[in-house]
Amino acid sequence: MKRLIVWQKKRWESKDKKCDLLFWKTGTEHKIKGMKCFASRFGSGMRGKMDYLPQENEDSIVRTDVEYTSQRNADTIEKLAERYPFLFTGSIGSSVMGRQIPYIQIGNGDRELFYNASFHANEWITTPVLLKFAEEYAECLRTGAPLYGVDAEFLFRNFRLVMVPMVNPDGVDVVNGGLKSETYEKNAAEIAAAYPDIPFPSGWKANIEGVDLNLQFPAGWEEAKAVKAAQGFTSPAPRDYVGSAPLTAPESRAVYDFTKNNNFELILAYHTQGEVIYWKYRDYEPPRSYEIANYFGMVSGYTVEETPEASGNAGYKDWFIQEYNRPGYTIEAGLGNNPLPLNQFNRIYLDNTGILISAMTLLIT
Ligand SMILES: [Zn+2]
Repeated sequence: MKRLIVWQKKRWESKDKKCDLLFWKTGTEHKIKGMKCFASRFGSGMRGKMDYLPQENEDSIVRTDVEYTSQRNADTIEKLAERYPFLFTGSIGSSVMGRQIPYIQIGNGDRELFYNASFHANEWITTPVLLKFAEEYAECLRTGAPLYGVDAEFLFRNFRLVMVPMVNPDGVDVVNGGLKSETYEKNAAEIAAAYPDIPFPSGWKANIEGVDLNLQFPAGWEEAKAVKAAQGFTSPAPRDYVGSAPLTAPESRAVYDFTKNNNFELILAYHTQGEVIYWKYRDYEPPRSYEIANYFGMVSGYTVEETPEASGNAGYKDWFIQEYNRPGYTIEAGLGNNPLPLNQFNRIYLDNTGILISAMTLLIT
């Protein structure tokens, strides 16, 4: 375990709220960005030293050094639920191939949040980000230790956090060799063969039927269809095909229904890459959304941007914002070419812990 070196203490104020921030740098991992920070208002005041996480030890359930398939995701969630009986797990639905789309729920509070990852197949490194966060949060609850300086019990009492680490199990299996079906392998290869410029399987983002799950939502879907058609995506493809109509892909439909059946105050949709936080949909500016985005930017070092016109429609966060006028974010984690290599995992994870925690703490007013 490493010690963090405190770099700067700062008071952050917003309306009637104040919180003390502690900025630190680790000296090694974060040379480029130089600093990270976290909100300590739920801790016992300012701290001179913090334990450095994530803690890799033999007991860790969540592997961060292996590729994830749908099977590994499901097995990991099952093991977490066994070790931490206060976790609640289930499935939001099933994929084209009949695979479950499991979720992990932590907390029994009134405030509901939803984090999801791996909408896009070759962005699967986001899956262990949420799994690792679930494990660290659960371990803090078990031991009573603070979660990055925040009282984990406090979070548990106040929030019901639901996480779907892999929205697109079949697609991830295309990329990482977990399909175990010659028929579907053949189908995917045939779809990909029409797009020789997109590497296969590493360029695969879609579900198993060649539908881009993040272009399936009823928020400017017709516009997205026109934009993508102009780019040559008019039928099933490794990426960027919007489908024949909104919500025709069972995975997108499952996320939609699940969202409708809950009362999420804020959502995070994890993608790669770019180190960018997208917060806006068209002219919708949900209350506090920009303020929270800027805070996320501060704790992650990521840039806060408005979604580019060409990809500004039919995404999950677009629909969430349009439907609820509440804060919804697409987080583009990491830098490089998808799929990002596993040696980026620690960096991505540490950049995002502040977002994953403060999405909750910032909602307390
Ligand atoms: Zn994506």
